[in-house]
Amino acid sequence: MSVVLITGASRGIGAACALAFAREGHDVAVNYCRSEEKANQLANEIKALGAGAFAVCADVGDSAQVKRMFDAVRRELGAVDILVNCAGIAHVGLLTDMTDDEWKRLIDTDLSGTFYCCREALRDMIRSHRGAIVNIASMWGEVGASCEAAYSAAKAGVIGLTKALAKEVAPSGIRVNAVSPGVVMTDMMAGFTDDDIAVLKEETPLNALGTPEDIADAVVFLASDKARFITGQVLGVNGGMVI
Ligand code: NAP
Repeated sequence: MSVVLITGASRGIGAACALAFAREGHDVAVNYCRSEEKANQLANEIKALGAGAFAVCADVGDSAQVKRMFDAVRRELGAVDILVNCAGIAHVGLLTDMTDDEWKRLIDTDLSGTFYCCREALRDMIRSHRGAIVNIASMWGEVGASCEAAYSAAKAGVIGLTKALAKEVAPSGIRVNAVSPGVVMTDMMAGFTDDDIAVLKEETPLNALGTPEDIADAVVFLASDKARFITGQVLGVNGGMVI
């Protein structure tokens, strides 16, 4: 049994990951930023499954809040053995229309948040010489998306961070991997019309849209001992959209 911290676990992919880890018998810290009620509900659902759970608020883009979050998780559940960096926001629009504040908020959340959480988690993981980190990237970080340049840049950064950090901490017995989802039906897709979504489905070789559970299964695998010889990898879970 491990202590798992999942950022952005109040909704969507993060919430599916939280339930999947709980079903495997792990204790789960459910990080949220704004969706307090959903995070508390999820923590109660996890406790009903017999696992430990703790909803913890932090804006991952703020390193002081991240530090306080790890201190709180350490007190409630123990040191984090598995970190899943899932918190993220998207921004659709022309790069030329993007403001400094919009750029900064996206990079703070999607890239710097991953850095801050990895840094905190590694303090305990290096001491115990064990641990696994799974970062949630995106296929757009691999190939780039028109009108999502900042998001693509942040996710490409997450992929670079994953590969470099995997090499850095492998001698300490810690694995770092990324899951790179394709189109997954969550609130993040709310801005897309039914027609847009139909086109995305059609462009996906498996002619299907992903579910949060599809991503959670890959995350749980990469964090598990079944993946003991896998590090620095980016696992595409995208229906064949990016190969
Ligand atoms: P979602 O349903 O919109 O959920 C986003 C989650 O991130 C929420 O739990 C939200 O928490 C949290 N969050 C946002 N800003 C945060 C912050 N500053 N600090 C802490 N938590 C924050 O999105 P999703 O589709 O599940 O996305 C999860 C991850 O998968 C993201 O990294 C996203 O980029 C990636 N992804 C998604 C897709 C897709 O098609 N859906 C594809 C590729 C990659 P609150 O509600 O509590 O604020």
